[in-house]
Amino acid sequence: MHKKLFIPGPTEVRKDIREAMNFPMFGHRMPETTQLMGEVADKLQKLLYTNNFIVISTSSATGLMEACSRNLIKNKGLHLTCGAFSDRWAKISKACNKDVDVVEYEWGKGTPASDIEEKIKTGKYDAVFVTHNETSTGVLNPLKDIGEMMKNYPDVLLAVDAVSSMAGTEIRVDDWNIDVVLASVQKCFALPPGLAIASVSDKAMEFSAEVEDKGFYFDFQAFKKYWDKAKQPPTTACLNLIAALNYQLDKIINQEGIENRVKRHKEMAEIVQNWTRENFDFFADQNYLSPTVTCIKNTKGISVASLNEELGKRGAVISNGYGKLKEQTFRIAHMGDITVDEIKWLLGEIDNIIS
Ligand SMILES: *Cc1c(COP(=O)(O)O)cnc(C)c1O
Repeated sequence: MHKKLFIPGPTEVRKDIREAMNFPMFGHRMPETTQLMGEVADKLQKLLYTNNFIVISTSSATGLMEACSRNLIKNKGLHLTCGAFSDRWAKISKACNKDVDVVEYEWGKGTPASDIEEKIKTGKYDAVFVTHNETSTGVLNPLKDIGEMMKNYPDVLLAVDAVSSMAGTEIRVDDWNIDVVLASVQKCFALPPGLAIASVSDKAMEFSAEVEDKGFYFDFQAFKKYWDKAKQPPTTACLNLIAALNYQLDKIINQEGIENRVKRHKEMAEIVQNWTRENFDFFADQNYLSPTVTCIKNTKGISVASLNEELGKRGAVISNGYGKLKEQTFRIAHMGDITVDEIKWLLGEIDNIIS
């Protein structure tokens, strides 16, 4: 039996999306690619409320996290960490031989804009790296506040990992002053994995042009060069997935509507949050609860492994805690194309199993 995915990526992929990937191949230097990538970029600009350059990368999101580390730091970067994925970004910068300061918050806490401002004021940093939605802990950081604060520091770039929030929460790139925001498509976009996208501001592009030793595959300038020529990718891209993204963006923008999609994620989150309050407790600080994934503190000491085994027999799978939180927490993802009714069904099944 297929187990419906209530895990924070990959998420459940609808049949019509799978079918949108099934077409005769064309070449990445052919006009079909120009047409396809042009359409995708226009729609992503709409989704993100921006006019910024769109990077479409055949890689997972981690590739574009590395792109940010390589393109946006000349002297020094600042990482704010509050969980496994923000930790990973700091590690990536270090692995690229970049000089970074890392401000660590306890897992489960959010990163307030005022704290970031304290650090940025020092004038030491080229860029600050923020994780919008920390998937390991179920924390949503206050991106709008952070972006608005950054307006006072025009010489510092803001790079954002929105892997598990983009297409599930509102992100207003231009209003919020975000230089780079990146995501992969196997989370709230509800597509199969293998593709990542980002918007990159002119300021970030100009900065990147002056940075040396960026490597080859993830140089923003390479993406721009091929885009300016013919709206094509620098190397052979996962064109089937890009076509599926084009199809899904139509559904998101024209059928469901961006605002309705955000509303549905909020509604699903509230249902899971109410259930969590009644049955368990939150791992995350309740001021920062994520609208796309809830990390539940296992206060009843249930076996998450056996819960998942039982759920499997009923056709669903949830996620255990990430890394060091494995049995202490479990996570229910309410992201992508999962519906309110499916979330209610899942919680009913969990109730039956644990009662
Ligand atoms: C899933 C996830 C990543 C990693 O994405 P990949 O596409 O697997 O590289 C990074 N950051 C966050 C917040 C995530 O949820």
